[in-house]
Amino acid sequence: MSDTYDTDVLIVGSGAGALTAAVTAAHGGARVLVVEKSDRYGGTSAMSGGGIWIPASENARRRGAEDSAEEAFLYMKTMIGDQVSDQRIRTFVEAAPEMLDFLQQNSHVRYEAIPYPDYYSEQPGAKRGYRTQSPRVFNGAKIGDDMYDMREQPPGALAQGRYTMSIPEARKFLTQTPGWRLTLLKVVIAYYLDMRGRLKGRRSRRLTQGNALVGTLYLSAKERGVELWLNAPMVSLESADGRVTGALVEKNGHATRVEAKKAVILAAGGFENNEAMRRQSLPKPTSADWTASQEHNVGDAINAAVKLGAKTDLMQHAWWIPVVHVPGWPRAMGIFAERSLPGLVIVNKAGRRFANEALPYLESGHAMYEAGSVPSWVVFDSAFRRKYPFGPLGPGWATPDEYLPGKVKKLLVKANTVGELAASAGLDAGGLEDTIERNNRFAETGVDTDFHRGDSYYDQYYGDSRNKPNPCIARIGEPPFYALPLHPGDIGTKGGLLTDENARVLDQSDTPIAGLYAIGNTSASVMGDKYVGAGATLGPAMTFGYVAARHLTGNRK
Ligand SMILES: Cc1cc2nc3c(=O)[nH]c(=O)nc-3n(C[C@H](O)[C@H](O)[C@H](O)COP(=O)(O)OP(=O)(O)OC[C@H]3O[C@@H](n4cnc5c(N)ncnc54)[C@H](O)[C@@H]3O)c2cc1C
Repeated sequence: MSDTYDTDVLIVGSGAGALTAAVTAAHGGARVLVVEKSDRYGGTSAMSGGGIWIPASENARRRGAEDSAEEAFLYMKTMIGDQVSDQRIRTFVEAAPEMLDFLQQNSHVRYEAIPYPDYYSEQPGAKRGYRTQSPRVFNGAKIGDDMYDMREQPPGALAQGRYTMSIPEARKFLTQTPGWRLTLLKVVIAYYLDMRGRLKGRRSRRLTQGNALVGTLYLSAKERGVELWLNAPMVSLESADGRVTGALVEKNGHATRVEAKKAVILAAGGFENNEAMRRQSLPKPTSADWTASQEHNVGDAINAAVKLGAKTDLMQHAWWIPVVHVPGWPRAMGIFAERSLPGLVIVNKAGRRFANEALPYLESGHAMYEAGSVPSWVVFDSAFRRKYPFGPLGPGWATPDEYLPGKVKKLLVKANTVGELAASAGLDAGGLEDTIERNNRFAETGVDTDFHRGDSYYDQYYGDSRNKPNPCIARIGEPPFYALPLHPGDIGTKGGLLTDENARVLDQSDTPIAGLYAIGNTSASVMGDKYVGAGATLGPAMTFGYVAARHLTGNRK
């Protein structure tokens, strides 16, 4: 016997797209139920930087930045080509700023446009800042104890694995821009001044990044009467007369038939943790150990919709990123920005570079596959190790080698000469020695004649501006030398259910399946195989969550 539950809108998953849809639909007068498979709400969205790519926003205008939907369309179209319909791209560029305005006026969500350049900053229509938006710091105490049910940020997103930091603060610490020590001190002091928070435990209530985004959305949804069930996986979709009518949900292990009068929105992430689906669709080699996303995204919603005849697209693509996989650690660590710092090279087995290290992370992942370089190795010296963090390594000034966790020590190769380092890592010694010598010449001239590292505006954004003449290239020469293996991992897959411009799921003949919407990584990305700027996964997830909710509540044609 199963229980029954009746609502207007059933939303499967509780990431940022799901909660944006929930707030919007509830604002439009609908009764909303969100079901979440795990015992935590927020999904990978809560673990993320919370950055969203929103062109032509009011926030940007306030910062004096000029932008338009037309320029954003040109940029996206130039990069994505015909992989995605013009209607979807157009809907995105027009609805994204509308979605952000809606949230800022009707919820606790607050963003600031930041000078983060688009990833392909030299392309037509690209901007050198202010499309990417960073969540403003939010006081988690306002959420009460429910805050502790939100998925936590991974340690790599916290200063010293403990202190929360906004995206601009994180950049300041990484690139050591003037004033970074004072900012770090303020962040640390804020942590210890929250006495009540400290009595409750280690977790900071100064919410930043993905926790600020999800926390504000959660609170707004709760205030609007949205119901959220944890430990409640959707098992299958239900349909009658060609229309999706609800789903079978296992609430705390008990089968519950949820009837959704208006629609079901699938927002259950991608399939990055499903080893069989990865092997079937993604380039090889591949492994679920290489994803930085949370473990419950295994393609449930994609598979349930395919059973009803839904069409999929872009299944061979992921939001690629080089990762460090520390065996025994729960999640791989994405190397988002450290690759732009001066004083490292990334090489293949022959000890040779194969790409610009500072490439946007999706392109870096592509490059590893194209060069057949899996794993690749990052190599740096003691000067780099002392100054900068890299993946699981805090900067040596704060975390000397002897204080590194045992599993990290085991993975890190260290030697007194480049030749010995190559031998220990299984790389060609002659090749690596040549590469370092060549890198050191580039460090002097400031010009990387092989792969143009540091040429683009984006490369320089995460470089060290104090390092002259090129903020992304420095001499490698101070022993001991270090190497770490890198794998082409991901922060989620980007293939999924094909949707129209209203986020409705399409069937094999490209006709919308009545009552069924998909957003976020459950849907095939509006970005095609590209990543046009920081926030290009969450921006569309939230925008199409907003679009779907407006459409099903009759507030959109
Ligand atoms: C460290 C890190 C930093 C990142 N930073 C950024 C950033 O700054 N900007 C950006 O745009 N992107 C960023 N990303 C990527 C971004 O977080 C993801 O692409 C995005 O969160 C995907 O959203 P989603 O809603 O599709 O999935 P999720 O946020 O993962 O939500 C899916 C939810 O569905 C649940 N679920 C799965 N199956 C079921 C089921 N059967 N029933 C019910 N619930 C189910 C899951 O448990 C999960 O909670 C980052 C990722 C990582 C790992």
